[in-house]
Amino acid sequence: METKKNFFKDIDFSKYTSLKIGPIREVLVINEIGSYEEYKIFGLGNNALISNTAPKFAILGQNFSYIKQIDNLLYVGCSVKSGKLLSYAKNNNLKNMEFLGKLPGNIGGLTKMNAGLKEWEIFNYIHSIKTKDGYIKKEDLEYSYRHSNIKDIIYEVVFHIEEGYSKEQAELFKNMRDNQPQTPSAGSCFKNPENNSAGRLIEEVGLKGFEYGDMSFSSKHANFLVNNNKGTYEEARYLIDLAKTKVKEKFNINLEEEIISY
Ligand SMILES: Cc1cc2nc3c(=O)[nH]c(=O)nc-3n(C[C@H](O)[C@H](O)[C@H](O)COP(=O)(O)OP(=O)(O)OC[C@H]3O[C@@H](n4cnc5c(N)ncnc54)[C@H](O)[C@@H]3O)c2cc1C
Repeated sequence: METKKNFFKDIDFSKYTSLKIGPIREVLVINEIGSYEEYKIFGLGNNALISNTAPKFAILGQNFSYIKQIDNLLYVGCSVKSGKLLSYAKNNNLKNMEFLGKLPGNIGGLTKMNAGLKEWEIFNYIHSIKTKDGYIKKEDLEYSYRHSNIKDIIYEVVFHIEEGYSKEQAELFKNMRDNQPQTPSAGSCFKNPENNSAGRLIEEVGLKGFEYGDMSFSSKHANFLVNNNKGTYEEARYLIDLAKTKVKEKFNINLEEEIISY
């Protein structure tokens, strides 16, 4: 296979990110494993709120878009999108990837965030990850709900595999997403506090459906911060900070942001 070199390209973040906010920026496309400390690694931007003063970004290129199966392990390059891995699992009758159907992102972003749906989280199925320092076993990493302690760029994720793709499970996950707003968002704005629901707290402080400029907390799902047209970083930040203040005042709970602001 021909391998590509690193290169730069312009990305319009107001089109690239799911929230549709951000400037046009030159981004480094990484095709070679190495150390890129001056760059912030970026995935597909499904969990991102980008300002005009964001840092320098890098994304992973074509060289990391492979899926290889060896014995009972699956080696997946981190620029592979969730949908591509799901299709692979379906075509090869593999189990446990069904939950990726409606989880937008690439394997790097999904792993860093330990993305998931209810008790199905990506770390459940991970064997190890590969960084510039080689493979690191899952046991040597810290991870929890929507969190991992991975600081380096993840180039590859190795999954345990088992036979048995389930159409029923895929359907179940699809149905779970039916009530989600279709307006541009970055998924959940806040993490659910322990034994609580961020959406319920936002609703109880009167912010469900609340608009500021072109941004609002969705009237369909209060924990989704949505861009109704030409929303800006500043409007989004205003609403995030407002929700945090109101929830703290009323319930003495600190809402933790799931969305990452740059
Ligand atoms: C409509 C919608 C619904 C969603 N529903 C859910 C849901 O149900 N559950 C859920 O968990 N999430 C959900 N999300 C959020 C999103 O799917 C996840 O956060 C996903 O992990 C983002 O992946 P990404 O590639 O877009 O990452 P980005 O948003 O680009 O980046 C996220 C983080 O990953 C880091 N990162 C990216 N690539 C790498 C890499 N190669 N190595 C190291 N770090 C890296 C970035 O630095 C950043 O910290 C939803 C988003 C949307 C828009």
